[in-house]
Amino acid sequence: MQGDLHLHTDWSDGLDSVEDMVAEAIRRGCSYVAVSDHTAYHVAANGLSAEQLLAQWEAIDRLQRRYPSIVILKGAEVDILPDGTLDISDDILQRADIVMASVHRHSDMEPRALTRRLIRAMENPLVNVLAHPTGRSIGQSDYRVDVEELLCTAARLGVALEINCAPNRLDLDERLARRCDDLGIALAIGSDAHSVGEMDQFSLGVGVARRARCTSHSILNARSSQELRAWLDSHRNG
Ligand SMILES: [Zn+2]
Ligand SMILES: [Zn+2]
Repeated sequence: MQGDLHLHTDWSDGLDSVEDMVAEAIRRGCSYVAVSDHTAYHVAANGLSAEQLLAQWEAIDRLQRRYPSIVILKGAEVDILPDGTLDISDDILQRADIVMASVHRHSDMEPRALTRRLIRAMENPLVNVLAHPTGRSIGQSDYRVDVEELLCTAARLGVALEINCAPNRLDLDERLARRCDDLGIALAIGSDAHSVGEMDQFSLGVGVARRARCTSHSILNARSSQELRAWLDSHRNG
């Protein structure tokens, strides 16, 4: 595994600074990390406005110069609004290295409407990864969504699906990760760490991928930073 594709910092609801998270990633031997804080619609998570996001990416550019041994990907975990559009505009997201989209609010929609909402988000060519795609929440209710239709859409559009490593999510699970591997869908393992310590969660997602017997070919973070960049660029260019 070459890097972690889902990290939060104290810019949104994480506990530690970007620099703390980057330093820990270097200590863990990562060759890249994606900083993917929440955006504005996720009010409870102190989500960033477009202006704050741009300010964070400028700060990351400065930090990158001080840490040449790791690639810091400028990202965001943008919220998918009830109509399937995103809470940050395309002209801002174009400047990101990696865009993840996910639902955090009003997920209790009628299944067809929720499925359409997620598909519309994936249809935005700037969205690289659908994070915690099925809304699995262990001990609580999951999204009521047509998972097979989500997977077929991801395969058709070349959008990656996440194996989210948060212990209460583990979303996708190993059964769906196996299905993605069969369908040729790229999988992005993300710790969803909100602190340096939570970066340990990453191994839980690797365990899901192993139980699913995924090949390294289907795991985005098994790729080198150059290969990952090439995948991100090719996705964006359709
Ligand atoms: Zn999330
Ligand atoms: Zn997250």
